[in-house]
Amino acid sequence: MTELVTALPSATAVRGQNDLTGRVALITGAGSGLGRAMAWGLACHGANIAIVDRDAAIAERCAREISNGSGTRALAVRADVSREDDVENATNRVLQDLGPIDILVNNAGHNIRKPLIDFSLAEFDSLHEVHVRGTFLFCRAVGRTMQAQRRGTIINIASVLGHIAAKNVAPYAAAKAAIVQLTKVLALEFAEHGIRVNSIAPGYIDTPLTRQHASDVRDRITRTTPLGRFGEARELIGPVVFLASEASSFITGSSLIVDGGWTAQ
Ligand code: NAP
Repeated sequence: MTELVTALPSATAVRGQNDLTGRVALITGAGSGLGRAMAWGLACHGANIAIVDRDAAIAERCAREISNGSGTRALAVRADVSREDDVENATNRVLQDLGPIDILVNNAGHNIRKPLIDFSLAEFDSLHEVHVRGTFLFCRAVGRTMQAQRRGTIINIASVLGHIAAKNVAPYAAAKAAIVQLTKVLALEFAEHGIRVNSIAPGYIDTPLTRQHASDVRDRITRTTPLGRFGEARELIGPVVFLASEASSFITGSSLIVDGGWTAQ
């Protein structure tokens, strides 16, 4: 039998596979919750960061916090992800001020919980505008520039509710399922351009978004999560750095579930 001997990467290369020094990452909804934590995590691994949020003051505060703490550059950009002109302007501003965008994290979002028959059309539209339309617009704007530079990685923040069902979240769950599917299609279209596209599907994480849940909902979630608690925003840092870096170089079109075991049941 012929022995197959393949050279292993050097120890230095393996240790450095999460290194993002000099890369540029654009993160939407980065002024709060998961986006803020993921921006901090990417900066701690060396990336320069564009903090995109619809609240300019919050984006500025977060950019200051990140550049002071990590020593990398952080740029605050005000944009509503559901507006085409805002997305185009934000993309151009980041290209101009920080350079080619290597990492795009589509994270901006919100949720409204109630039975489907009680939703107004405006509420349904607002959920799809931020999640689906916003993800589409940024994937298109930044994707064009990534195609031209023939490299990049896109990470779309979906949800476990894009994979499984729960009551009182029909428009949100439908929007998150659309993000999972948009991610897979884009992974196929972008692969030949050297661009990887994945989603992260968080379970219940303690952020301003989930602090709005009624206490009986929070108690039920805690009871039914195998790890027995809500996740913390910092627990998204490892997954986003992994998908943004060389550590995941053969992963595209996947959805990484980060839910304390909730969907394993
Ligand atoms: P968060 O703390 O409320 O942060 C969301 C951020 O997005 C806020 O700064 C928000 O600004 C911003 N944003 C909302 N709409 C925007 C728009 N149209 N344009 C620009 N920015 C906008 O919520 P989070 O929990 O970190 O959620 C982040 C993402 O994770 C969302 O996509 C959410 O669906 C997803 N997710 C969260 C959980 C969880 O358990 N926390 C679970 C699964 C998925 P405002 O404050 O002005 O609204």
